[in-house]
Amino acid sequence: MSSSSMGGCRIPGCRKTVPAALAMEMLCTDHFLEHASSRATAAWESCHHGMAIEEETLDGLLFEAQSAAQALISAELPLEIGQQEKILEFLLCVADLHEFAAQNPGFSSSVN
Ligand SMILES: [Zn+2]
Repeated sequence: MSSSSMGGCRIPGCRKTVPAALAMEMLCTDHFLEHASSRATAAWESCHHGMAIEEETLDGLLFEAQSAAQALISAELPLEIGQQEKILEFLLCVADLHEFAAQNPGFSSSVN
């Protein structure tokens, strides 16, 4: 075994390396994107059903968007075109959610 303490992706069975930008998430790029996109999609679905989204969720997505942007910029590992597209899609999705929340004061559950 190597002496590296970084470890790999936390998804069982996944042996991919975790890029430095995603170290906090402990996920490889693919699993991070899968996880982040499903959260963003779930947030949009709640919103389409007229449900409030917790500010925590928005903050979490914003944090993940920052990690995704760093992963995109740092290019420590060569990203596949598909991964780049997914990152951009995710960033746009989060940006839209924030825009929507800003324009709909009742959207976030922390606002009365
Ligand atoms: Zn993984």
